[in-house]
Amino acid sequence: MNRQKSVKDYIRTIVDFPHEGILFRDVTTLFADARGFRICVDQLLSPYAGIPIDKVVGLEARGFILGGAVAHQLTTGFVPIRKKGKLPGAVISQAYALEYGEAVMEIHDDAIRAGERVLIVDDLLATGGTASAAIELCRRLGAEVVGAAFVIDLPELGGRRAIEALGVEVHALCEFE
Ligand code: IMP
Repeated sequence: MNRQKSVKDYIRTIVDFPHEGILFRDVTTLFADARGFRICVDQLLSPYAGIPIDKVVGLEARGFILGGAVAHQLTTGFVPIRKKGKLPGAVISQAYALEYGEAVMEIHDDAIRAGERVLIVDDLLATGGTASAAIELCRRLGAEVVGAAFVIDLPELGGRRAIEALGVEVHALCEFE
């Protein structure tokens, strides 16, 4: 029986990228397909229709592509969270643990006003370290984080539990082992 492709069907897996033993879930094939990109953005924002949101916060780099489209559709502003040293204005910074070492994410210190309601968007949730740092940055600016939306959840890595432990609901369109 014929069935329409789901979001997951458009995602390509690259073996041994960026290191041997890693299965990289590549969303560029999803973004490149007109129908794939549309159903992805529609499904990402569907739980938030009718919920007041002031800003969509996208995480570097694929979260910019998704977050921009979601913000346009929800008629909200868009705010980038970037790796250290990339944003031109005054920033606040948040360090978080990586598998080896740590990384730092930044947000402009005037990008969100206290009390604004924000939705965090990224392509993939693994350990949740990146999204947790983003939630922390938004909260330090006084924002209320109304949700965190991802195309892919890797459930074995525990990211959903980490984000929910911070009191933020997770929405993911598909899972990979
Ligand atoms: P976490 O901080 O461990 O949850 O990792 C999530 C971050 O790593 C996100 O910003 C993703 O874009 C990136 N990431 C990790 N693995 C993959 C992958 O297989 N495909 C695409 N992005 C990934």
